[in-house]
Amino acid sequence: MKRFACLLLALALLMGAGAAAPAEGPAASGVAYEIFVGSFADSDGDGLGDLRGIEEKLDYIASLGVDMIWLTPIHPSPSYHHYDVTDYYAVAPEFGALEDFDSLVAACRERGIGVILDLVVNHTGVGHPWFSEACAALAGGKESPAIEMYTFTQGSGDHEVPGASGWYYEGRFGPHMPDLNLDNEDVRGEIARIIAFWQEHGVSGFRLDATTSYYTGAPGKCAEFVRFICETARAKDPDCYVVGECWADAQTILGMYSSGIDSLFNFPAADVDGLLVQAALNGRGAAVARRMAEWNGQLRAASPASLDAPFLTNHDIARARGMLRSDEAAMKAAAMLYLLLPGRPFVYYGEELGMSGSGRDENKRLPMLWSAADETANCLPPADADQKQRLKAGVAEQEGNEESLLNWYRALIALRSLAPELARGEMTALDAGNDAVCAFTVEDGTTAIVLVNASKGETVSLDLAALGLDDAALLGCVGVPAEDFLADAALPPLSCALLRAE
Ligand code: CA
Repeated sequence: MKRFACLLLALALLMGAGAAAPAEGPAASGVAYEIFVGSFADSDGDGLGDLRGIEEKLDYIASLGVDMIWLTPIHPSPSYHHYDVTDYYAVAPEFGALEDFDSLVAACRERGIGVILDLVVNHTGVGHPWFSEACAALAGGKESPAIEMYTFTQGSGDHEVPGASGWYYEGRFGPHMPDLNLDNEDVRGEIARIIAFWQEHGVSGFRLDATTSYYTGAPGKCAEFVRFICETARAKDPDCYVVGECWADAQTILGMYSSGIDSLFNFPAADVDGLLVQAALNGRGAAVARRMAEWNGQLRAASPASLDAPFLTNHDIARARGMLRSDEAAMKAAAMLYLLLPGRPFVYYGEELGMSGSGRDENKRLPMLWSAADETANCLPPADADQKQRLKAGVAEQEGNEESLLNWYRALIALRSLAPELARGEMTALDAGNDAVCAFTVEDGTTAIVLVNASKGETVSLDLAALGLDDAALLGCVGVPAEDFLADAALPPLSCALLRAE
């Protein structure tokens, strides 16, 4: 039976190859790459990452196969992380100039890579002129439209207004980040202008910071504001992509999708307690197929146009290396499990190398390790980092190593790009009869089939006939030669196959 199935599979592969249309350049992988700008690549020798540095590394970024980069905030700000913006219409001088941004966007476009910016509008920086003007007006007992742009209270509140006795302001993330009054028409008008400004500079979309804090404790109002942002962005660019940070449970995320936003980061599946890391640690992929298929159904019901955004970690979360106990096999398993899921996976810079960092935030944002041997190739760490990079092999050291995590990521993203169904398709879990195997179909006109063996030690023989895959064509494999998989439909430890049924 097995041999029969494989023969059909091989035949289907041949027929599929004969019928394939000529390729026109690499297909979009639908994978995005998050860059913490100050820690990525330094072009002028001051040790701080900048926009020219990113442009100089675009060949590397393109070599990963990603088709979108998310830049953490690039605007003027007194902090190293730039999430307390003081001018939304400018580039921080330490990162470059607006011309550098335009140049980066143009260079990305040549490579089929979109750029999305962090839109941080729950709050401004305490040094923003709007806030300064509002505080000065309060202190002077004068009226000013700026006062209405924030939430000031008398008698009590989060933080005291300097120089205005008895006045307080809302600042959920601390005194350096006063919350904007998002009901204010001037604020909404400014946000619309900010969006349009960066769209005119060629961005493909936005990542929305802190959407659950727009109206703390009022998820319906938060979703309404997300809708305002999405509709504003799409009025100018119907293809504008918006992904939101809704760091909350599954039900809250589903509720937020009612805003019509394209994507929300899949926090429940991420981080140390999330499904992906746990499945990678215990080598059990089947649970990922079951849970994510259920999630896919819930998402499609909540918002048919939704695009899940699975990820392992980001700049606020300890590096995957530590969660996966510095076990390269577990890192490879985690990568297989999330890079082939429906939606748009997000890779945090350096994850593809296995970079370390945990504890205080600065440690999660250590310099991209271009070279472990040559420190001058890398940025300087954030000033308050108290950990050093534990990874001993950077880009330079991993490039030529076929077994490296870097080349594993490249292979997986290249594999993903063969199946456009993996973006928006309907996911159904398959039972491969083994807890190690994450098996599922994704149907979007045609049907892609993903088969992942997350086990670190067990070869799994698949009964393709029993899985209903007799007529499926093999698109590619990672971790096992395609001819081997065609011969016996067996997945060695840490391997995966991608098929298509017409
Ligand atoms: Ca620099």
